[in-house]
Amino acid sequence: MRHITKVTLAVSIALLMLYASAAVARNTAGQPKQGKTGSTKPAPQTRPSNKPAKDEAIIHVIRDVSPQQVQATIEKLVSFGTRNTLSVNNPGAATSSKGIVAARNWIKSEFERYSAACGGCLEVKTDTFIEQPKGRVTTPTEIQNVYAILRGTDPAQAKRIYLVTGHYDSRRQDVMNTTDPAPGANDDGSGTAVSLECARVLSKHRFPATIIFLTVAGEEQGLFGSAHFAKMAKEQGWAIEGALNNDIVGGNRTPGDTLQNNNWVRVFSEGIPAAATEAELNRIRSVGGENDSSSRQLARYIVEVSQTYSSFGPFSPKMIFRRDRYLRGGDHSSFNQQGFAAVRFTEYREDYHHQHENPRTEKGIEYGDLPKFVDFNYVANVARLNAATLATMASSPAPPAKAQLMTRELENDSKIEWAPSPGAVAYEVLWRRTTDPEFPAENGSRTTDTKVDLKESKDNVIFGVRSIDAKGHMSLIVIPEPGRAGSPVLEQQRAKDK
Ligand SMILES: [Zn+2]
Repeated sequence: MRHITKVTLAVSIALLMLYASAAVARNTAGQPKQGKTGSTKPAPQTRPSNKPAKDEAIIHVIRDVSPQQVQATIEKLVSFGTRNTLSVNNPGAATSSKGIVAARNWIKSEFERYSAACGGCLEVKTDTFIEQPKGRVTTPTEIQNVYAILRGTDPAQAKRIYLVTGHYDSRRQDVMNTTDPAPGANDDGSGTAVSLECARVLSKHRFPATIIFLTVAGEEQGLFGSAHFAKMAKEQGWAIEGALNNDIVGGNRTPGDTLQNNNWVRVFSEGIPAAATEAELNRIRSVGGENDSSSRQLARYIVEVSQTYSSFGPFSPKMIFRRDRYLRGGDHSSFNQQGFAAVRFTEYREDYHHQHENPRTEKGIEYGDLPKFVDFNYVANVARLNAATLATMASSPAPPAKAQLMTRELENDSKIEWAPSPGAVAYEVLWRRTTDPEFPAENGSRTTDTKVDLKESKDNVIFGVRSIDAKGHMSLIVIPEPGRAGSPVLEQQRAKDK
């Protein structure tokens, strides 16, 4: 147990002086922090300096998101009648004003329109392939993902990619029906609109790292579009550091639904990575890492972004610590399968009368995924949160690489080291109790060095490390891995000391 006593204060100050050449105390008074972990008294709330800084450009991005534009996009998508992936095989599909070909051509033209407005800043691309018969695909079917790249401006950072996606295909009860109306306003016209709106507002700005605005097809037939895209990204070595999947973010506003909460959007994230190797699973089991996948750090990041920008008002993300809802799947899983951090945004409370249903009225209930049940202001809030998160991640330095928590010897101290991150002027080591869902704001140590030696015992807490640039942008948090043999940096130092 730690108490705020003269003794601990004196010890802490002495320790601080030991490392003062590199370490920078975080609070304004330059006094060491009493962390929440293990404290019996509430920690002092003196953390103005270690909260992520607000960025004027990102405030502008948030203000620029338009509910009217979101509504226009969703209504246009619905106007294609059906966006069933198999409708590509309908006679005359290539020239028809209805069906998925017309829809994907229109999405591409929207990206091109945004690009024209920013002097060609977007690279508008398609990822087209033939899906062979399998499950809900009965004949060889062309599937096309449509996307736009806002290339990073910093050659050292542009390889880092952040991505937002939604699926533009739709379905009826009969997932094989390719001709009758399948409006898909919420599922997933709303997510497609988020991706497009992010492209529109973010293309007016430039970021050091790269952002991809993706729309995929084949989701309702079996996640085929996202699976192909994520596999391609993996094979080509794309460094996707975070993927935001928006699926059913319409904020369903069925009359009489008193349990809906339009101030909340759920953010689903996997705990144990789908792509973990047996060795990684063993490490997770051994250290209690079930709650610390890269996808979960991404979810925590989204929460922090929403807290940084009060512009969201009462609207906020609610983390759900599971991959997805019961009986359901989504495109973020395709990215998880390839080892990328990815989360799913979904409205707080879904109405199953308005998903995958044939539009009709039966016994006084109106079925169908129609625009009238979509809350365009809610979708705009989700788009604001996505855009602000993408902008913040793409403005931040890379997360610290090769972070290691030294476990060479039995000791209560926690020694953590990491490789320098280009563009970072400082780093922050955070910690939380093993039972805490988030890293508490008051538990942290800021340093300009690439190592720390902390009194918090690694046995009692979970540590995270992040990079900070000169403007206060903070990277995603990485969890240092146990480094039993010691890091190369440490080894060199030891060799020198001999
Ligand atoms: Zn969906």
